[in-house]
Amino acid sequence: MNRIWWTWDLRMRWHWGFCRSHESFVANYKTLLDAAHRYSVEAVVIWGFLRDEHGGIDAAKEVREHAEKRGVRILPGFGVDDYGGAYYEGSSRYALDNYLTEHPEAQAVDKNGNPATHLWPPMDTKARKKACPSDGKVLDYYRESLEWLLREFDLDGFQIEQGDSGLCYCDRCRERQQITHLGERTSVSDGARRIGAVVKPFLEKQDDLLIVSETYLGMSKEELETIASALPDYPEGITLSWQLYDDGRMKVDEGVKSPRPHGVAALRTNSDVFYGVREDGKNIAEALRRSKAAGLDWTYIYGEHPDDRPVVRDNYEAWYRHSV
Ligand SMILES: [Zn+2]
Repeated sequence: MNRIWWTWDLRMRWHWGFCRSHESFVANYKTLLDAAHRYSVEAVVIWGFLRDEHGGIDAAKEVREHAEKRGVRILPGFGVDDYGGAYYEGSSRYALDNYLTEHPEAQAVDKNGNPATHLWPPMDTKARKKACPSDGKVLDYYRESLEWLLREFDLDGFQIEQGDSGLCYCDRCRERQQITHLGERTSVSDGARRIGAVVKPFLEKQDDLLIVSETYLGMSKEELETIASALPDYPEGITLSWQLYDDGRMKVDEGVKSPRPHGVAALRTNSDVFYGVREDGKNIAEALRRSKAAGLDWTYIYGEHPDDRPVVRDNYEAWYRHSV
């Protein structure tokens, strides 16, 4: 399998400072990139790749250049309707917050009828504005932002998500038929429709672009039935990511098959997102065995912790060994 380390900037512990400054951001990711070869990591997802707080474009370019030297791909997180657009935090026109300040009619609405926002990770200092998935004009803005991101950093891939923090409750969204998942946390149909619309022209221009797209679904028979009617909205060239293991919980059934020839087995362990790292080699091995049987050819695990701690190193080693 091909391997990815998945990271949030504010949870990074490879160096110091959780990426709260230019120096800390660059040092965290350079140290991670220097270690990537030990586990044959081919790509690193970075959410919060661009923030004014940690040096914006200049710092991101330093990380990108170091990745080039190490032969590792950088996949910045790109948020559609949530998670900040192309530029997570700052004064850039490619920060979704700034677009929504100028176009308040495109902001999503929460259950109480207020403009919707989302704060993540919990240690961030400010919530980001969310866009309404019924708004068509903001799609042009996403495509313009993505074009800028790929060109500015000479990228050959990115990760993309449409949001798992609740639906929009405006009249237009309430009237549309939707397939929801995790209660009303995420819309499976909006994810496919919105992401498909944003990335399609990019894949038509460049079919070897690596686009890792989160479904927020596991691979139970029920979940595969849930997404079946939405799947055609995802272009064939996209690489869907399936959350098949959550800190102690297997989320892939025996005997299921990936509905697409390529896909990522997301192993959600080894991170502070689940309140710290624990020894998890056996579960990692089992999750990968099932993922390979389901036909998946990529895997990611959280890569935020340095491997100088035995418990972390053992997790990375198990993940490497069982994904060969
Ligand atoms: Zn809406």
